[in-house]
Amino acid sequence: MRYSVSSNAQVRVRFAPSPTGWLHIGGVRTTLFNYLFARKHGGKFLLRIEDTDTERSEQKYTDDILSSLKWLGMEPEEPILYQSKRFDLYKKVADDMVSKGQAYRCYCTEAEVEATREQMMKEGKKPMYARTCRNLTAPPTGREHAPFAIRSKFPLTGTTSFKDMIRGEISFPNEDLDDFVIIRSNGVPTYNFVVVIDDIEMKISHVIRGDDHINNTPKQMYLYAALNHLAPPDGDAPKVPMFAHLPMILGQDKKKLSKRNGETSTNAYREQGFLPEALLNFLVRLGWSHGDQELFSMQEMIDLFNLENVQVSGAVFNTEKLMWIAGEHMKKADPTRLLKIIQTDFGKCFSGVSLPRLKEPLTIELIKHIQQKVKLVKEVAEQLHPLLEKGVMPVDSSGLKWNKDADTKQKVKNGIESLIELGRKKLLGNNSLAEAGVGHADIDGILRGICEQHGIKLGDFTGPMRLFVTGQATSAIGLFDLLPILHWSDIEERLQACLKA
Ligand code: GLU
Ligand code: ZN
Repeated sequence: MRYSVSSNAQVRVRFAPSPTGWLHIGGVRTTLFNYLFARKHGGKFLLRIEDTDTERSEQKYTDDILSSLKWLGMEPEEPILYQSKRFDLYKKVADDMVSKGQAYRCYCTEAEVEATREQMMKEGKKPMYARTCRNLTAPPTGREHAPFAIRSKFPLTGTTSFKDMIRGEISFPNEDLDDFVIIRSNGVPTYNFVVVIDDIEMKISHVIRGDDHINNTPKQMYLYAALNHLAPPDGDAPKVPMFAHLPMILGQDKKKLSKRNGETSTNAYREQGFLPEALLNFLVRLGWSHGDQELFSMQEMIDLFNLENVQVSGAVFNTEKLMWIAGEHMKKADPTRLLKIIQTDFGKCFSGVSLPRLKEPLTIELIKHIQQKVKLVKEVAEQLHPLLEKGVMPVDSSGLKWNKDADTKQKVKNGIESLIELGRKKLLGNNSLAEAGVGHADIDGILRGICEQHGIKLGDFTGPMRLFVTGQATSAIGLFDLLPILHWSDIEERLQACLKA
């Protein structure tokens, strides 16, 4: 059996997650490839929530999928289709297949089906449904009122093949394929069945999904043929989408990525402070390449993405590379946007401090410096927080060099006193030196002048000051940049604490 491929003009792709767990990072990679393919070809990216498993599907997981996609900037462009709202339709389509002889009622109990499978395995055969009910014309005696499943009447001979856009031709001998269930005896339709009904209705042109679905594809091909009449009348028939099966994402141990060998939930990356564009850049390289380019903007991904360059073998999740990519995107991020993200996502890091304490341009100025040295938004927040704290901060001065040299210590303290005085003079009634027009270069000159005057080395002078002003021995933002920006009253208080050390 060979079905011709859709010649739909418009590219329409979808992401079809089951809301039975937090959005998996692999699902984001699938979404990204679909999304890029749609953008590149001027098509549409759609979302379908595959929530037929009413016991395991939960609203909180659907909410997580939606909020994560929003965060990542890949939102569906048409109303979301929820499978749980369509059970009546699925049942009708199945009944219709039964009446046309494309499917049949199976009255076997689960125990019976399982017993035959076990028997086949014992005989060294591939376990399958024995097709017991395939040719029944009525329910077996005694089972007239028993529950029944509906099975596809899959062809017994020939082959089913399709041309995978990544792997090329893939063929399956039909005799190896089961008369798979389309509606279970409890009335719940199966994935393979509803996926086809919905992909037809949504006019999906390309199915781009994980390669764990390759073995499902021939079953779906059978249904495309059987359900051809459901295809919308516009365009050419028969309509079967093109398929592209993406390689699995593997952990560093080369096993399928799982909680055990990596973080799999998308939200965890957001909570750690990854920028969405960094995560997407990292994910686009999991299975796709463009020469040896590692860094991509969204626009570059859209321009360069193609399915031809998707690899067949599994893609290894390399955390070190993720961190490097995160740092590169952090450097380029708009600091005003970083401040917004800090306010919405990392407010917790700011307990006791109100962000508007500094005028916004000065906060942005701090962020501009910090973002060059860190990789995660959370780190920016953590670096920013102590700087915005009022007055003195707790420090551990036991590591300071001057502890071993009382003479230098005194000279440095004298220098700090000079700086306090000079600062006050330059402030001209403003909150910060920056507002009074004093910048990095001026501070550089002032500090060097003081060192000369007191006969001290610049490093000996700035060491204790950095510790007391930033609260850290090494800081993401240099002292020369910091002194003009913070409220001079806070700097003074911190320097006074330094004098008492
Ligand atoms: N619900 C399926 C999954 O999450 C969808 C597979 C498909 O795209 O057809 O794997
Ligand atoms: Zn049966």
